[in-house]
Amino acid sequence: MIIYCNNKECEKYNIKECINKVRYVLKDNELILKDQYCEKCGNLKTIEELKHKDGFTSNIGKFSSKSRDEKTASLKKRATKHYEQHIEPYKEHVNHEAITNFKNANKG
Ligand SMILES: [Zn+2]
Repeated sequence: MIIYCNNKECEKYNIKECINKVRYVLKDNELILKDQYCEKCGNLKTIEELKHKDGFTSNIGKFSSKSRDEKTASLKKRATKHYEQHIEPYKEHVNHEAITNFKNANKG
């Protein structure tokens, strides 16, 4: 996925970064991507593109629309499940892709 800082005051404004390893952290009861905060201005970066077809952004959107209490409860319940269902398969997919690319490269 590609993320970038959309703070026009920031020296990293609109500088796009490609994130290959998706990791989540809980901050103030919000589920965010690790590395999603701008290292320069602390702004929450904008996600431009998701390579994973199921889309992590839509999941974050659902969390955001819930009340804080609901969110906390569902995050506590789902933290482990979410990791198993979404993040592990995604990592496997990436690894598989890397191995396939490597094999193809060796074939010439
Ligand atoms: Zn910034």
